[in-house]
Amino acid sequence: MTRADLLSLFDQFGILPTPQRLDIAAILLQRPQHMSAEHLIDKLKDSGSKVSKATVYNSLNLFSKHGLVREVMVDPVRKFYDSTTRPHHHFYNVDSGELSDIPDEQVCFRDLPDLPKGTERESIEVLIKVRDRSH
Ligand SMILES: [Zn+2]
Repeated sequence: MTRADLLSLFDQFGILPTPQRLDIAAILLQRPQHMSAEHLIDKLKDSGSKVSKATVYNSLNLFSKHGLVREVMVDPVRKFYDSTTRPHHHFYNVDSGELSDIPDEQVCFRDLPDLPKGTERESIEVLIKVRDRSH
């Protein structure tokens, strides 16, 4: 993804481009992937970028608030940022810590509960936790 592509994406999602935000987005959005903030910080360091941890966390929050990336919580302490924002579901391997995609059309529901009064459905996300077989 070129700088110009990133700038037009930022414009489309209403995000003010700063050099740090562009560095972060360039790494996360280079391909469909799931990254934790820590992983992203490591990648930034490798690329010689001097973006602070706080800036990374703030930028990721901003990106997900504006819909540029999607947050996936796998447990209360582990959060991934997903460069794929269209609806889909996930497998999470608790042994390897790896998150992988399940296409939206591979999950369907026979029955869903009535929604609470006065609400409408925003989205449904399925997280299937798996572990390595022990033999
Ligand atoms: Zn995903």
